[in-house]
Amino acid sequence: MVSKYLLILVILVAAIFIWRSNRKVAVKERKAKEQRAKVIDMQPCRWCAVHIPATEAVQGKHGSYCSTAHRLKAEP
Ligand SMILES: [Zn+2]
Repeated sequence: MVSKYLLILVILVAAIFIWRSNRKVAVKERKAKEQRAKVIDMQPCRWCAVHIPATEAVQGKHGSYCSTAHRLKAEP
């Protein structure tokens, strides 16, 4: 009788442990994904080498720049 309850308790604890570790892995993977997305989105300015998000970058003939001023300096 007692061993039956003990078995259920062990299974329950194991299930909680697995669920918690799975959640940790999911959070880790999401963070890694966000980090990768950040790395991909950043582009260096061809004039001053400052890294700017791709969405804010000014596109020139030879690459991307942090501002229109730097694009004009590099590509007169
Ligand atoms: Zn620049």
